[in-house]
Amino acid sequence: MEKLLVFGHKSPDTDSIASSIALACLQTKLGKTAEPRRLGNISKETEFALNHFKIGAPELLTSVSEDDNVILVDHNEPDQSADNIKSAHIYMVVDHHRVNGFETAEPVYYYAEPVGCTCTILYKLFNQNNVTIPADVAGLMLSAIISDTLLFKSPTCTDLDREVAEKLAKISNTDINSYGLAMLKAGTDLSSFSEEELVNLDAKVVTIADKIKAKISQVNTADIDDVMTRKAKLEEAMNKDVESLGLDLDLLLITDIINSNSQAIVLGSHADLVEKSYSVKLENNTAFLEGIVSRKKQVIPVLTSHAE
Ligand code: MG
Ligand code: MG
Ligand code: MG
Repeated sequence: MEKLLVFGHKSPDTDSIASSIALACLQTKLGKTAEPRRLGNISKETEFALNHFKIGAPELLTSVSEDDNVILVDHNEPDQSADNIKSAHIYMVVDHHRVNGFETAEPVYYYAEPVGCTCTILYKLFNQNNVTIPADVAGLMLSAIISDTLLFKSPTCTDLDREVAEKLAKISNTDINSYGLAMLKAGTDLSSFSEEELVNLDAKVVTIADKIKAKISQVNTADIDDVMTRKAKLEEAMNKDVESLGLDLDLLLITDIINSNSQAIVLGSHADLVEKSYSVKLENNTAFLEGIVSRKKQVIPVLTSHAE
């Protein structure tokens, strides 16, 4: 079999990068030729994790062709994947998201569980194959769990994520809390980013209830007010996306990772869907969403159920 390219979603987060590296490592140890790739820039949080465990970033990949054999991690929706993904041969998927718009021409290995992080599933795959996880890779996998679960505070976090994180911490000799806080904090330094960059750091375009094209972006911060001083320019950047991507809804979540709340900025012709979904009133395109931190568990399904 030819080379397998392993990659996560566009606007890669720590899980997408860590999962690509970890699964390429596992496949290589199983005798395959596999290499990790990334579909965008490395975030500051991910950079912190890669530096800490002394692992290089994967090579950038933008599009694939029919000659490519690929493994998707941390996503399955074609809109979130490499350009032309429908032409490639998909060998395997390891994911923890809803399955949407995904289809293959041939049988596929598909490993999915509704847990907090793809790396939690990968930990089980290493075990099932009796492959020892190298300490540096274990540290990176732990970083992904901390990132996706906001240090176990997100409602997406399961007991299994906590258990696996403990094991990975042991293998990588990492103090979960002190390392985790330092890593999350590294991701909240937004000063060097333009507003256009901020709305694309962690962004997903999804179709809600088959009819509403929505972009849902998230930035993590320790100080919502600090980010809100840039509101006018953030809205300018979002309005550009509404035009160029033909969005019905553009939702930016400014998430306070210390107190686990989000301030939302909402634009687009279906902005009222956010009001309906959370029983809030938008004032100057913004509302405070108490306790909302997870796009996957508290935003996409809630918007979907209120749009139907
Ligand atoms: Mg992700
Ligand atoms: Mg993930
Ligand atoms: Mg995420």
